[in-house]
This record gives sequence, structure tokens and C-alpha cells, in this order.
Amino acid sequence: MYKILDGKTTAAEVKAKVAEDVVELKECGVTPGLAVIIVGNDPASRVYVDNKEKDCAQVGIRSTEYALLETTSQEELLSLIHKLNNDPEVDGILCQLPLPLGLDEKTVIGAITPEKDVDCFHPENVGHVMQGDYTFLPCTPAGIMKLLERECVDVSGKHCVVIGRSNIVGKPMAMLMLNASATVTVCHSKTRNLADYTRCADILVSAVGKAGFITADMVKPGSVVIDVGMNRNSQGKLCGDVDFENVAPLCSYITPVPGGVGPMTRAELLVNTVSAAKKRK
Ligand code: NAP
Repeated sequence: MYKILDGKTTAAEVKAKVAEDVVELKECGVTPGLAVIIVGNDPASRVYVDNKEKDCAQVGIRSTEYALLETTSQEELLSLIHKLNNDPEVDGILCQLPLPLGLDEKTVIGAITPEKDVDCFHPENVGHVMQGDYTFLPCTPAGIMKLLERECVDVSGKHCVVIGRSNIVGKPMAMLMLNASATVTVCHSKTRNLADYTRCADILVSAVGKAGFITADMVKPGSVVIDVGMNRNSQGKLCGDVDFENVAPLCSYITPVPGGVGPMTRAELLVNTVSAAKKRK
């Protein structure tokens, strides 16, 4: 019988601890502050930003939104980031991606001072993660590691197969697994005979973004399956990459969608913001 890796409950525990830390910081005169930048009118980005602001309010972090027009120039955006970099009341800066066409994400991410880069996308912070010595961890992979730790799933020596090589999920996920002494294989759209790899995985992480992508014949019996995907099925319902109904009975542990990785990603942003505020204190 498989066990659910319950992101909702684990995230609530993480948030409760963050809320305690916030109380302590406030007693010392420090209110953690997160600046959230959103450019343009992407509806999905709007939802993400609203959720992040709701999370902040729940744990006592002060979030300030900077909603910029779709037509904002690169210079205007960089100037805002520069201002926030120098604002002592701002501990974390988050620029919601994707940015509208014409704005260069790489330059924008690189402009955020690494000390306030709570998404952990800045090259300097990415380098620290590679070296296994870090202040911030990227939110989604960090949340996944916490889910595994909570259920005492030992990663060391296991074969972890990560599907996806984005800078946000796939690559840092592979790095955290490697830092935790897993043997790691990274697959992507050019991987030949993908199922040959996935069937060897003790831990399979799917970060592809295609509903129903991971089918039962791709999964090793008794393995752990982590579904990062956030997709809409034909009925418009939120679903992951994994054909949950048919894959779950094969697994030892599996994350559901919704209620798996998503809430952990949100919680880890709060963890990073409080870490930054502790440094200010
Ligand atoms: P992304 O940048 O689009 O990356 C998708 C990855 O999947 C790419 O590396 C791509 O390979 C690979 N891929 C696509 N088709 C494939 C195929 N047929 N076989 C093998 N690999 C294939 O997406 P992302 O930002 O990493 O996000 C992935 C998914 O996770 C999305 O659904 C996103 O919404 C979701 N997500 C969820 C959370 C959460 O908190 N739950 C957080 C972030 C993202 P190539 O590199 O070769 O193109």
C-alpha cells in the first residue's frame, strides 16, 4: 500500500515554524519584508502572486506588491530592483516569472542582490547550491527534500531520476539529490528511451508539465514518485504529470497534485524570506 507524501500538512508545519520565527524577529524590532514584483497581466502569475501574498500575511511577513505595466521597460524594472536592493526594510525580492517579451529575465534575476534573492535564482546563489554551502535553497527542490525527510525517505545511495532540466526545478533538484548522496540521472526532451531510465529509478521526479506523462509502465514497483507538474486536464482540473490512479498502487510513496509539491514550494519562499531577515537582525 502506498503512502501519500502530504505537502499540505508538511507545509502547514513549516509555516507554523516560520510564524514562530517571525514573532521572535518582531520582538527584536525586525519585521521580515518581501517585495513582490509582477509585470503585466498574465493570469497565472496573478494567482501565484496573490497566493504568495496570502501566505506572507498568514505568517506575519510584510509583503509589498509592485505591479508594473506590461509596457514597463527593462530600465524601469532594473531601477525598481536597485531601489529595493537598497531598502533596509526589504529582506526578500521576488520577481514573478515569466516576464513579458522584451524584458530579459537573466539580467533581471542577476540584478537582484544575492542576499535578497529568496527564489534562489541568482547565479551566485545557484553556485552556492552547487557547492553545497548556501543561505537559500531553490523553493521547489527544497520543499521536495523536506517532504522526503519528514517521511524519513533515505536518499543516500538511491538512484534518483529527474525528468526536466529547467533552472527553476530540474537542475537544482538534481543538485540537491546529489548533495544528499543520491546517484542522479537527469532526463529531458532529447533523452532516448526515457522509460529505460525511469524504470530504474528508486526516486522519480517528474518536472515536465504534461498531464498523464508518467504512466504505470514507466515506474519501478516500490519506488518513490514526486510529481512536480502543474497542468490542467481536459476538464480544466489541476493535475500533475503522473497518471496518479494507475501509478500510485505501484509506489511506496507518491505526491498528489494538488496537495503535494505546490504547497511546499510556497512554504519554502517564506523560509527563505525569514532566513534573509535573520541575517538583517
Ligand atoms: P520547463 O522549463 O518547461 O521544463 C520542462 C522540462 O521538461 C524541460 O527540461 C524539457 O526538456 C522536459 N521535457 C519536455 N517534454 C519532455 C519529454 N517528452 N520527455 C522528457 N522530458 C521532457 O518547466 P519547469 O519550469 O521546470 O516546470 C515543469 C512543471 O513543473 C510545469 O508543469 C510547472 O508548472 C511545474 N512547476 C510546479 C511547481 C510546484 O511548486 N509544484 C514549481 C515550478 C514548476 P528540454 O529541456 O529538452 O526542453
